Parts: sequence; C-alpha cells; structure tokens
Amino acid sequence: MFNKFSDRIYIQPPEHFTDRPNVGLVIGDKYTLMFEAGNSAANVELLKGRLLADSLPQPDFVAVSHWHWDHSFGMHAWDVPTIAGEETNRELLKIAGWKWDDESMDKRVEKGEDIVFCNEMVKREYSDRNDIKVVGADIVFSEKMTLDLGGVECVFIHAKGPHSSDSIICYIPGEKFVFLGDSNGKDLYGQPWHFDIEHEDDFMEETGKIPYDENKVREYLSILDTLDFTYCIGGHADIMTKEELYKSFEI
Ligand SMILES: [Zn+2]
Repeated sequence: MFNKFSDRIYIQPPEHFTDRPNVGLVIGDKYTLMFEAGNSAANVELLKGRLLADSLPQPDFVAVSHWHWDHSFGMHAWDVPTIAGEETNRELLKIAGWKWDDESMDKRVEKGEDIVFCNEMVKREYSDRNDIKVVGADIVFSEKMTLDLGGVECVFIHAKGPHSSDSIICYIPGEKFVFLGDSNGKDLYGQPWHFDIEHEDDFMEETGKIPYDENKVREYLSILDTLDFTYCIGGHADIMTKEELYKSFEI
C-alpha cells in the first residue's frame, strides 16, 4: 500500500524480492505524478490496483529517475505521458534493442554492460522474458524541468550523483521533499562487486564495500545545497532528513 507522507505525497515502499524501488505519488489539484514506473507490466497493474484500493488518484504523468531496469521497465504499460532526462532516454532507446535470452544476458555481463544482480532479479520478475518491453519517454528534458500539478510543483533536476550519471531527482519545494531515485547510491555498474543469488542476503555487505567517488559526491552535494528540503528518500531505502543524507557519504 502507499504510505502517506503529506496530503500531497504518498510512497509505495520498495519490494526487495525483485528489487522494486520506492514509488512516489505527488498529488496536485489538477494532475498527479508518479515518480518511478515499476519494473514490469505486472508491477504496473499492481500499482494501479493499490492506488484504487487506497482511494488515491491514478497518475497523469509517470517520470523515471534513471535508466536502470527496476525503475524504468514498466514505462510501456502506462497509458499516460512518461518523462525522463535526456541521458536516461538515450540509454533506454539503446536497451530497447537488447535481447533477453540467457546467452545475450551473460554476454552483457562479460562486456560490463549489465551486472549479475540485475540479471538475476530480471529473471525472477519475468517468468517469460518475452514480456520485457523497453521504451523511451514521451517527454524528455536536459538539465531541469518544472511540472506544475496545480498547487504543487515538481522540479526535475539532472543531479547525476555517485550511482549513475543520468540520474534525475524530483524536488517538491512546497513540501520541502526530494525523491532521490538511486542518485545517492553506490555505483553498482562502474565498480566491481560480488553477487551470488544463493547468498543474496550478503547484498548490503557486498555493496557496502564499494567506495564512493568523492568528486561525484561533491558535485552532487553542490546541487543539493541549493535546494531547500527537510526530508528525502532514496530508491530502495527509508525516508531520511537532509542531514542524514549528507552524513551517509562517508567522505
Ligand atoms: Zn539504479
């Protein structure tokens, strides 16, 4: 179910079994935005059902934080305009041509285009990988875009950060809140780390060993410094204060 943060903001918590991230809902007087698209059509159907059950509005727009599959592969299943940053969109259009048989997936891991963890989670989410459909967004922006939902504004900012260079964040000034996506997380694609599905409980320990790129963190924080917010939430974790976010970088 979606948890209430305020009258304007609701959050569906992450579901770790198939790596589904937090999904945010921002409710305006005219329009509603969903931040993150779900990781499959099945996930989208579930989200629609939960909104209905929770008497919350269905989204008029769906935005994604970055290209990683767990945030974006549900995009095709929404019948409303989708939003992505320019760099994210470029990646999605490239991935739209990927094949999902075992051999192709293994090859991408060998070439460093994908990682074992995501392959295992994709296999778990999709009992039939022919159902995977990756599409680009309907609305694409480069550095910053504001969406006025009526009584509440969402400001999308290409904040980059240590996790993935295409990452955008969704800043809601009126609520002093930021959806960070995974932007504050470790770089799971650019740095080597070990994942074995037989020992998936080691995930936190293994990713914990990945160092942050200090320059990327500093550049990221210089953008967050300019934003007036009290609370924020990363892609797969709980709500935290701005102070807790800054302290989390160990630099
Ligand atoms: Zn990610």
